[in-house]
Amino acid sequence: MKLDLITLFPEMCETVLSESIIGRAQRSGAIEICCHQLRDYALDKHRRVDDTVYGGGMGMLMKCEPIALCYEAICAKRQTKPHFVYMSPQGRTLSQQRLRELSEIENICVLAGHYEGVDQRVLDSLIDEEISIGDYVLTGGELPALVFIDALSRMAPGVLSNNECFTEESHWNGLLEYPQYTKPQVWRDLEVPPVLYSGDHQKVDRWRREQSLINTAKKRPEMLLKRELSEDEKTILKTAGFDPSLYK
Ligand code: SAM
Repeated sequence: MKLDLITLFPEMCETVLSESIIGRAQRSGAIEICCHQLRDYALDKHRRVDDTVYGGGMGMLMKCEPIALCYEAICAKRQTKPHFVYMSPQGRTLSQQRLRELSEIENICVLAGHYEGVDQRVLDSLIDEEISIGDYVLTGGELPALVFIDALSRMAPGVLSNNECFTEESHWNGLLEYPQYTKPQVWRDLEVPPVLYSGDHQKVDRWRREQSLINTAKKRPEMLLKRELSEDEKTILKTAGFDPSLYK
């Protein structure tokens, strides 16, 4: 997986991306991430990449040409046209499902906006997809881009120790993960469920499946509406006190 990030703050992004799992994944060669300073593609000596908005109004807008030049330089370097994503509060909200689809793409370029955003002509002629990280507005696209790159990178082969690390987690199969515990077995009178140290792997699996379903029904019931429940799952919910007729 090769990721390019166009930003006004490459050092800030590199600092975050050089730490922990994503940093290790880059050093091992499992993924390649390159942050590009948009100002390097500005056309004037002041390295300006923004200008006032036609029609009036508050704030500044990112200009077309520096973005186009930067993307073209990335295309030349990668010898392909990377899927071009613009982080935007107007985009489709990021989901594990979309990340799964995008993780199949080898080259992705991400544009982090700033100010009032970018000139519409960039969106119309260069951008393949706008992605939002939620229905709220941040000052810039760096944090959304880092969220997107982190979530995408961890699905690349070789980044996590094995695929189970993410296929077992919340959202992968439309459910939240089951509760987890670590040592000690009893902490301030609160005990770990005995099944988890029974040594019976079948029972542990069954308990986790049940708890995953119950956890989802408690915390995010709307997720269950998008999912066809098996008879067994309906029984689990009913036994736990939920009304299975609310779900498909
Ligand atoms: N004027 C824009 C609008 O109303 O749609 C908002 C611009 S915002 C202040 C500046 C930049 O932050 C955007 O260009 C985008 O890159 C980024 N941004 C802000 N909120 C975001 C979100 N929820 N998801 C993804 N990117 C976001």
